[in-house]
Amino acid sequence: MGYIARFTPKGTIEQRPCSHEGIDHDSLDAFGYDWEQVGQPDIAPVYPSKIYLPQTTDELIAIIKEAHRLGEKLTIRSRGHSSNDLVLTRGAVLSTTRMNQVLAIDESAMTATLQAGVVSADVDDLLAKSGYGLPVIGDHNDITVGGFASVGGIGPASFRHGLFIDNVVSLQYVTFTGELIECSRSQRADDFYKVLLGLGQFGVIATMVCKFIKVDKYNTVLRNHRQVCHDVEAFIAGTEPLMRDPSGNYMIRAAWNDLGAVKLGHISAYRQTPQRGWKSLLDRSVYGYFHGLAQRAGTLPTAVDKVVKGLGTAGVFLPPHYATIKNVEFFSDRMVDSTVGDPTRWFIMLVPSQQYAEMFRQLYELACAFRARYECFSFVGMYVKVLRSEYLSSDPDQYYCEMNLLTGITERGIQPDELAELVDQIDDLCLHHGALRYMHTKTGKDPQRRSLLDPNAVRRRVPTARPQPAQVAVLHGK
Ligand SMILES: Cc1cc2nc3c(=O)[nH]c(=O)nc-3n(C[C@H](O)[C@H](O)[C@H](O)COP(=O)(O)OP(=O)(O)OC[C@H]3O[C@@H](n4cnc5c(N)ncnc54)[C@H](O)[C@@H]3O)c2cc1C
Repeated sequence: MGYIARFTPKGTIEQRPCSHEGIDHDSLDAFGYDWEQVGQPDIAPVYPSKIYLPQTTDELIAIIKEAHRLGEKLTIRSRGHSSNDLVLTRGAVLSTTRMNQVLAIDESAMTATLQAGVVSADVDDLLAKSGYGLPVIGDHNDITVGGFASVGGIGPASFRHGLFIDNVVSLQYVTFTGELIECSRSQRADDFYKVLLGLGQFGVIATMVCKFIKVDKYNTVLRNHRQVCHDVEAFIAGTEPLMRDPSGNYMIRAAWNDLGAVKLGHISAYRQTPQRGWKSLLDRSVYGYFHGLAQRAGTLPTAVDKVVKGLGTAGVFLPPHYATIKNVEFFSDRMVDSTVGDPTRWFIMLVPSQQYAEMFRQLYELACAFRARYECFSFVGMYVKVLRSEYLSSDPDQYYCEMNLLTGITERGIQPDELAELVDQIDDLCLHHGALRYMHTKTGKDPQRRSLLDPNAVRRRVPTARPQPAQVAVLHGK
């Protein structure tokens, strides 16, 4: 895992832990890649012919007007953690990474005004100094708020706080003709909902106002009421009730890992617990051990790296009984390096909780069938979280499962036609179950199918009464 050094806007060099030692986001070379390189390290780069690097909203408007005048199609990129060809182009790229300032913190309104390219974990750390934090944050320390808002944003507390976008109060974005638009739920609501989860298709988010909450993420310890399963049906039976009704819990994350000979699942339901010194000590020593191990991963000789990653992975397979909110949020980020060992590919969907069990079984069977037929996967993981979102459903009791099929790629690899076949079948399953795709991971390219799978497109089609799972099934012709 090691550290990456980065040159801050203030002109200082700052080091931060990095869970992908093998990938650099801060070089010209980085512009040729997205996260797909983690699943296919020998992938050919796609370099842009032009890169724009605005720092302010005024510069952003001027750049967009220039691009419009020149007839250039701009591709918006933050830090390239997506893997669905969203940030790659041979044409012009507009990078938001230098629009990375926290513009204001308003403690009376409990909101922060942020430039879109600021990294969400940095905002969280800044807020932590005053006893606050973002309600929803991803499990990686390098995701920007603009990128997160453009895909949705899910965390292990999303069943209480919604998606990241549900916590955006208002935003300013620049259309591709250069018009600055300010919008919120009460002002130009159609624009607001269109840009959120919009994958950079409708303009560039310049700034946004986000809610924060009172919370001490680094010192509040939660108790993990963990269940361990060796059988997939036991895992499904243990998770399904949580997907339907997670109330009473503080954070939830569960994972089923099938390594062929070894199969192991954990269901981690974190609840508040009386704060005691020994619980903090336990958290600090266990996580300190895992973080210490992982800091070296990615910097050691390959064989040693793999052993270190293996040891760190133990903490991901069997999360400890006590953890601070921050350690739950970051989960694997400081425990394993994604660029050590087998390449990995993710495919994520948003599944209505009523369909959870069936969808889980069918998706798992599909992945295992691919592994048997093509010998393309070294392991099959199924990572789940539960969420509800005002954006996805107007019914406050409608829960969704974020279902992440996480696969290890063998040396043989998965060939392009096999990958396309798998993605098509995943999309088919989603259409069948009224599920949506999380669009930053690989989806099919057919526009008609995408319009039924992309939460943003579905919401734009039915703006006033957001589709409920049953209606979505009707829309899908079921
Ligand atoms: C290790 C890792 C862990 C992750 N963990 C989580 C998690 O816990 N929860 C979760 O929800 N996601 C998670 N993600 C996914 C992550 O949220 C997405 O990859 C997301 O795209 C943010 O990454 P980014 O900031 O690099 O954006 P990019 O990948 O650069 O961009 C993503 C999309 O947003 C658009 N975009 C970016 N900025 C703007 C802007 N200012 N205006 C308009 N459009 C814009 C781009 O055009 C693109 O379509 C994880 C990803 C990785 C690699």
